[in-house]
Amino acid sequence: MPRVGVLALQGDVREHVAVLSRLGVTTSTVRTASQLDDVEALVLPGGESTAIAHLLGTSGLRAALESRLSDHMPVFGTCAGLILLSSQVLDGREDQWSFGALDVSVRRNGYGRQVASFEAPIEVRGLGVVPGVFIRAPRIDAVGTEVEVLAEHDHGDGPHPVLVRQGSVWGCSFHPELTSSSDIHRMFVDSLPV
Ligand code: GLN
Repeated sequence: MPRVGVLALQGDVREHVAVLSRLGVTTSTVRTASQLDDVEALVLPGGESTAIAHLLGTSGLRAALESRLSDHMPVFGTCAGLILLSSQVLDGREDQWSFGALDVSVRRNGYGRQVASFEAPIEVRGLGVVPGVFIRAPRIDAVGTEVEVLAEHDHGDGPHPVLVRQGSVWGCSFHPELTSSSDIHRMFVDSLPV
């Protein structure tokens, strides 16, 4: 069973660690490049993408993670983590950068600000319905041809992907770590090479 790290610079780190532990996955928090060396896969949590991006730069993790991504380390980005993995950030800060590991355009706060946060049942292909918690969520506005859409949600403005996968890179615009369901994490974990 591979060790799954949780990027622990900012955001809801504990919640991801709790779900992974509940699934019996060996997990550790990652704050430094050497801690990244110890994991075979990584979860990038929700939080504030600009804050996480800043800390990735100052911690030396940006280059280390870039190199692991080009070696196809499996990663799962939720919310801010999805923004960090994406190839294009719309409505981002002017200096906002992202890894470009997942060929999607995401619109920061695309469902509205904090007061517009919402919950909705999400039908996931091959899995069933899971609870979706959207908090200042990025909206996926476009996906590349290599991207598999595993779930969509229509929040009144037409269906938009909310769970996507491009090979070993997974992204989710909601927060599967904030509910009692471990199903989405299990899907990611089950996809990891043994
Ligand atoms: N809106 C936040 C950002 O741009 C993401 C929100 C979240 O992770 N819950 O980083």
